[in-house]
Amino acid sequence: MTLKPILIHPDPRLKKVCDPVSAFGRDLAKLADDMLETMYDAPGIGLAAPQVGVMQRLLVMDCVKEADGTPAPMVLVNPAVTWKSEERNIYEEGCLSIPGQYAEIERPKSVRVSWQDVEGKAHEQEFDALWATCVQHEIDHLDGVLFIDYLKPLKRQMITRKMQKLKREQARA
Ligand SMILES: [Zn+2]
Repeated sequence: MTLKPILIHPDPRLKKVCDPVSAFGRDLAKLADDMLETMYDAPGIGLAAPQVGVMQRLLVMDCVKEADGTPAPMVLVNPAVTWKSEERNIYEEGCLSIPGQYAEIERPKSVRVSWQDVEGKAHEQEFDALWATCVQHEIDHLDGVLFIDYLKPLKRQMITRKMQKLKREQARA
């Protein structure tokens, strides 16, 4: 497995709508494994393909946060929200592409999502609470949407300027 560099906002690739995955099998499984390893290493609870520069509709996640919890890695190819609850809740969200920045974001509390696995087999499942927030955050990435896009422009610009500064510092290092 290989750790992949994670793109940092602002980056044009994080603002694009990704293409559906049409090729299933070994290469896709390898990409999903690399993304999971990269996510656990970061560490994070979700990672979408465009965050590692792959412009395809694929995401990985594992919202088991307890250190002694059993890992529950999930790989979702071509995911789509098929139902969302009226009830909403608020989580403080962060993003591996926007390191060190967090904000409270309101989303539907539960969602039903359909997707394919790396072999192309179809699945559908309901997600609740943190898992629901995570899967919605990651699906947003596939449409070029970041959690800061839900914030007021001033707050979003402040975070973007901090990230530009961080990238300049990283480039110098
Ligand atoms: Zn993110």
